[in-house]
Amino acid sequence: MATAASAPSIDPNVSTFVGTTRKLFINGKWVEAASGKTFPTYNPATGEVLANVAEGDREDIDRAVKAARAAFETGPWAKKMSPAQRGKLIWKLADLIEKHQEEFAQLESLDNGKPLKISRIADVPLTFEHMRYYAGWATKIEGNTIPLTLAGPTKYLAYTLREPVGVVGQIIPWNFPLLMAAWKLGPALATGCTIVLKPAEQTPLSALRLGELIQEAGFPDGVVNIVPGYGETAGAALAAHPEVDKVAFTGSTEVGKLILHAAAGNLKKVSLELGGKSPNIVLEDADLNSTIPGAAGAIFFNHGQCCCAGSRLFVEEKVFDKVVEGVTQIAEKMQVKPGFEPDCDMGPMVSEEQMNRVCGYLESGFREGAKAVTGGARLGNQGYFVKPTVLVNTTDKMKVVQEEIFGPVVTAIPFRDPNEIVARANDTIYGLAAGVWSRDIKRALSVAAKLRAGTVWINCYNVFDPALPFGGYKQSGWGREMGHEVLEHYTEVKSVCAALT
Ligand code: NAP
Ligand code: MG
Repeated sequence: MATAASAPSIDPNVSTFVGTTRKLFINGKWVEAASGKTFPTYNPATGEVLANVAEGDREDIDRAVKAARAAFETGPWAKKMSPAQRGKLIWKLADLIEKHQEEFAQLESLDNGKPLKISRIADVPLTFEHMRYYAGWATKIEGNTIPLTLAGPTKYLAYTLREPVGVVGQIIPWNFPLLMAAWKLGPALATGCTIVLKPAEQTPLSALRLGELIQEAGFPDGVVNIVPGYGETAGAALAAHPEVDKVAFTGSTEVGKLILHAAAGNLKKVSLELGGKSPNIVLEDADLNSTIPGAAGAIFFNHGQCCCAGSRLFVEEKVFDKVVEGVTQIAEKMQVKPGFEPDCDMGPMVSEEQMNRVCGYLESGFREGAKAVTGGARLGNQGYFVKPTVLVNTTDKMKVVQEEIFGPVVTAIPFRDPNEIVARANDTIYGLAAGVWSRDIKRALSVAAKLRAGTVWINCYNVFDPALPFGGYKQSGWGREMGHEVLEHYTEVKSVCAALT
């Protein structure tokens, strides 16, 4: 899988960035870990070390939380700067990300494995547009005036204020490293919080480059601190820290539960964006010309490493064969290769561990009687590639149908009775997203109404917008990211009641 001659050369700024051991960003300065330790991050297309990064641990998290606390209590951010000034800084950061977009696209592709062409058109533009959306919110955080129900209108003036929740710990995953940092940072900055961000061990680089731009934009010291390290050490210390007012987490449901336990010590506020096993439902009257590529994109986008991946493809019996054949053809045409290759459609899994996890699920499916129409195994023996896979012959209780695989594996499931499909679609512990495909909008809306999912896409999939809330029912999480909904997680409401007589 040698890199083709036509692959773009690495941006010189990216080469320099990965060529030096990266440090922690604490209180506006780049510092070594207290332990002096570093850890490697790998290029999953080759398995080789891409860069070395300072390994944050409990002591570093403590330093970062203290810096964030000081920035919140006494720094210019909270006490002197106006909402308009905060908004302008966030906008400036967005401009800087846009200016350096090619560097970010390359770092993301190298560290995570995703196709460069995708990080260029999806991850990076979504990141700076997300920042701009929240730059606008900085000046629009409002309370209400409340007419008291039991007193006359002239007796009291009562109103609410929305104040920043304080110091927030943010723990993010590796599937969209830069974008997940933006989803977390945008609303926290807009509301005037200060932050300690822990990126995933597999993909710390784009967040660290973002730290340099945060510095360049001129955010006061300590407003954003970035501490890469391992989840069990740095992440756990952040979730448990008594001086953190709120923790926001995106990742597995299993770790989400650990975060909850850790947060109980000081009852910090918690928001969780967790896993999914999203049903994608094709009714027989769907326009198959758009449904088939839509269903393939729903699972294969980002190599299936999406919390909202459409991993259970329910298809009405009459069109089942046609849809499976169409999705299979797309899977077989996909160019699975290093993300820097211009024609790459799908890169490697993020890590050897993730590749092994996906392959383990495939084996479990085969043991239980599932069959692969296409794919079903690792591809090659260099890098962590898995073939795009379509499974059939499954039953609803199999592990591959119930558990989040987080890889390019879709189970195609025929159904006969459209009245039964909602119950089957809802039959997992998750409730993050769902898709419905039909030409009959009334039917589609009626199915959407019954699905227990935080997002339902109709005749489309994976459409994201900073203004559109995203998050899960059931064990897919607590609270919503994006839109104005997320601002509630970063603010406390203060009721003020003044006697007028
Ligand atoms: P994960 O362990 O949940 O990782 C997510 C984040 O949590 C990372 O920053 C991780 O740090 C951190 N973390 C891990 N253990 C922690 C702890 N005890 N306390 C605090 N933070 C902790 O996810 P993963 O192991 O990378 O992937 C496993 C599975 O999770 C995937 O197969 C997939 O099913 C699911 N997942 C879901 C999403 C999503 O968007 N919903 C994203 C990623 C993964 P380190 O990475 O440094 O350990
Ligand atoms: Mg990496």
